[in-house]
Amino acid sequence: MALTIHGLTAHEMHDKLKNKELSATEATKSVLDRISKTESRVKAYLTLLSEEALKKAEQVDKRLAAGEDLRPLEGIPMALKDNMCTEGIKTTCASKILHNFIPPYNATVAEKLEKAGAVLVGKLNMDEFAMGSSNENSSFYPVHNPWDLERAPGGSSGGSAAAVASDGAIYTLGSDTGGSVRQPASFCGVVGLKPTYGRVSRYGLIAYASSLDQIGPVTKDVRDCAWVLGAIAGHDEKDSTSANVPVSDYSHALNKDIKGMKVGIPKEYFAEGLDEEVKAKILEAVKKLEDLGAVCEEMSLPHTEYALPAFYLLAPAEASSNLARYDGVRYGYRDKNAEDLITMYKQTRSQGFGPELKRRIMLGTYALSSGYYDAYYLKALKVRTLVKQDFDQAFERYDVIVAPTAPTVAFRLGEKADDPLSMYLSDLFTIPVNLAGLPAISIPCGLSQGMPVGLQIIGKPFDEAALLQVAYNFEQNTPHHKLKPQLEVE
Ligand code: GLN
Repeated sequence: MALTIHGLTAHEMHDKLKNKELSATEATKSVLDRISKTESRVKAYLTLLSEEALKKAEQVDKRLAAGEDLRPLEGIPMALKDNMCTEGIKTTCASKILHNFIPPYNATVAEKLEKAGAVLVGKLNMDEFAMGSSNENSSFYPVHNPWDLERAPGGSSGGSAAAVASDGAIYTLGSDTGGSVRQPASFCGVVGLKPTYGRVSRYGLIAYASSLDQIGPVTKDVRDCAWVLGAIAGHDEKDSTSANVPVSDYSHALNKDIKGMKVGIPKEYFAEGLDEEVKAKILEAVKKLEDLGAVCEEMSLPHTEYALPAFYLLAPAEASSNLARYDGVRYGYRDKNAEDLITMYKQTRSQGFGPELKRRIMLGTYALSSGYYDAYYLKALKVRTLVKQDFDQAFERYDVIVAPTAPTVAFRLGEKADDPLSMYLSDLFTIPVNLAGLPAISIPCGLSQGMPVGLQIIGKPFDEAALLQVAYNFEQNTPHHKLKPQLEVE
């Protein structure tokens, strides 16, 4: 395949910008042109910012022409999931209730990337308020998987993953509450990292479940992931849950080999529900890590089976509380026909929220209500502690834990849409990580039925460097990340 500009990774593009083989304007035009050819089928974007992006690229080119130094992500076209606030730019959460919301401020991640010289080309499609695993809960339209347009890209950051996989952005940001960065990355054959809870500021991230939400990069390779994480990580006084822990030099971690590293393989992640071909790919990947010098050992995370039910109590409980603020009074959608205030609230919320949100609000309100709080919410919190303790114990012995990201490859659009339980099960292997607040990355490890399989690497709190180190060693010694979907362009 001929080398294209939009096909470059961020670090490759950086080198070309630096050597003056390419201008930021050319880079941006190439990505915008690619979007114009693929977007009618992929549907990764909710808002395109072509003019703004070209203006920003021009500013970068002017800076460079004036002899200023090129910063790592400067001039690189990227996009943000539409639950991250962007000043003066519509931020909808893919929900009718925020269809016209224009934030008066930037999320910290948007601000940091803007200051680093990033070129924002648009806002990405997602499941409404990040609730879902297939992107079919977008109030506007579903995203299609670039590897097979009949299949789901995963969710909720389906737009973030599909845009990167189809070269419609060089990198993107997604958010991960129960797997929403890693599962779509797995389904679309790209790299997705969920940082430790508190590693990246969530100021300006529209809340889903506040004790679980984290923002993370979606990229074409592991080096880009290290670059983007480095640019967005760090303490932020505007987010009281952001941790005051120094940010490592993530690119430096890529230089180390993995000889003697201790890798745990949790047997509970290879049990019922895991597709046989996916399992085979993961075991091949484990073998590769052993060839590279890692010491892999089967181990147990005994409370794994309780993580999913606990999550589906805790996340809806927090969501029901977070979503109470959308009442049609100050911003967003309002039913204008209501004759009194209470009717206005009711109708605004009935019309503004989609069916999955209503299900979550009802489940969450029920779990928090008096009489059920102890039986459901409190019990789920106790399970959460047990899940965390499993990991704490495991990390006394292992440097990282390796498992599948998702139990299957991408399923067909419509396949699980009417069966919430089967949809929820696609988060089986990603949810425990959020409950425990840990970092984890998904990287491509081969194909099954022509669709990408994701390898999940889970790490100790704030040890994103170890994840990147293992991921990079694997990537550089395998061909998987070079595979691209054949999206024929008309
Ligand atoms: N799929 C899970 C849910 O629907 C997790 C989504 C996410 O991580 N945002 O809640």
